Amino acid sequence: MASRVIPVDPFDLVIFGGTGDLARRKIFPALFRRFVAGQIEGDVRLIGAARSEMDRAAYRAMVRAAIAEFGGEEARRKKDLAAFLDLLDYVMVDARGTAGWSDLAGKMRKDRIRAFYFSVAPALFGDLAKRLHKHGMADAASRIVVEKPFGRDLETARDLNRVLARHFEERQIYRIDHYLGKETVQNLMAIRFGNVLFEPLWNSQYVDHIQITVAESVGVGGRGDYYDKSGAMRDMVQNHMMQLLCLIAMEPPAKFDPDAVRDEKLKVIRALDPVKGADVVRGQYEAQEDKPDYRVQVDNPESTTESFVALKVHISNWRWAGTPFYLRTGKRLRERASEIAVVFKDAPHSIFGPEAGRHRNILTIKLQPNEGIELGVTIKEPGPGGMRLIDVPLDMTFAEALGPEEADFPDAYERLIMDVIRGNQTLFMRGDEVEAAWAWTDPVIAEWEDEGAAPLPYASGSSGPDDALMLMHRDGRRWREIRP
Ligand code: NAP
Repeated sequence: MASRVIPVDPFDLVIFGGTGDLARRKIFPALFRRFVAGQIEGDVRLIGAARSEMDRAAYRAMVRAAIAEFGGEEARRKKDLAAFLDLLDYVMVDARGTAGWSDLAGKMRKDRIRAFYFSVAPALFGDLAKRLHKHGMADAASRIVVEKPFGRDLETARDLNRVLARHFEERQIYRIDHYLGKETVQNLMAIRFGNVLFEPLWNSQYVDHIQITVAESVGVGGRGDYYDKSGAMRDMVQNHMMQLLCLIAMEPPAKFDPDAVRDEKLKVIRALDPVKGADVVRGQYEAQEDKPDYRVQVDNPESTTESFVALKVHISNWRWAGTPFYLRTGKRLRERASEIAVVFKDAPHSIFGPEAGRHRNILTIKLQPNEGIELGVTIKEPGPGGMRLIDVPLDMTFAEALGPEEADFPDAYERLIMDVIRGNQTLFMRGDEVEAAWAWTDPVIAEWEDEGAAPLPYASGSSGPDDALMLMHRDGRRWREIRP
């Protein structure tokens, strides 16, 4: 069963920062895959914009090379690639100067959707918005896409929101959190609100606790400079993990529309209790064989930035009172593996006696490296040995159920960029959501910064500092093993 692809309306997409890393690694490969799928067709233009001097032919060669490197299987489709490259144009533009703006404005066509992707440093967002307005490109048919990080605290996020709001309405602003573009994250909503099975159990009466893990096996790599000013709390928790938490915990929205969904997410963030001292563990990775430790990698021997954080979080509302959410994320951990695990409570009474052991249903939503959903159920161990119980995963492998073609999920950027063109903001963060998330995160970070305390060292390739294990052990619980 091949999926039905509905082409989007004709559009012009300007990618500011069109020569940068994100454009080459993610944005163009994503656009190309949508082109190959037939979703982008007709009179469409993709215009790269940056300061580098380059003509159209050189730009096409650059994008061709990027797709060859990052475009996966599709990149071999030479005919498609040639047709795709035909859509490309390039304008030399300086976000902070006057160069190039009239050229760009001259290329815009009034009779179609115009989207402007801000794939540049956040310090340039305001300059771009201002100049788009000045040159008549910020009208009702235009929309802007902004990348993370959206501020580094509540104050800077508010400033950024204010700057953008001077020239664009909220309905025109698409704040990207690529976790929301993951197929499985959207499936989380389908599972919760499309089935009668789960929602009655989705509360503190039946759910013992929820674990959210975003584990990376790599270190900070070449992003040391940025990362050291940010840390795991700002880089991962305030945005991605907070969004996952919201989707898991929110009340059913009245409908699947942008404001209904985002209103419910916002209520979750506002219901979060402040996190207290012992409920937060920070870590920093040590050296491993030939790999240097964190401080060497970021070239800051005094760094107190965390490359790992684990938190125990409470949501003060009727649904979740008494059910803790445990969050952890870090670099140089045992494996690259991200998942959400909903751990249900024990059956109220065991008819099988103590020797049957303790068994729990766990619903696991796997985000990476492989996306999928697994439901652990308890069954009888086969054989004549009496009533012994074992846990097995109830098979929910999409590839088998849907066929490999359907289960070949589009990359998050494919989905999100197409949503920008379709004008659907459901999977993008609203300004008030981002601010509420910072309002919750800021005091935690401020406490660390005031104390100047160093994070706990942890062995590279481990599950993080021992104190993170204790965070759960002291509640009689344990983290799930980090495995792909
Ligand atoms: P990058 O590789 O440093 O690219 C920056 C781009 O901005 C280049 O195309 C650069 O081209 C252009 N630029 C710089 N100054 C400019 C100016 N004054 N006017 C016009 N263009 C200018 O950065 P990136 O990694 O692609 O990141 C872009 C944005 O995405 C950042 O906000 C980043 O935080 C975010 N992001 C990136 C990733 C990632 O994986 N890379 C992931 C998540 C979020 P010229 O030098 O030719 O002008």
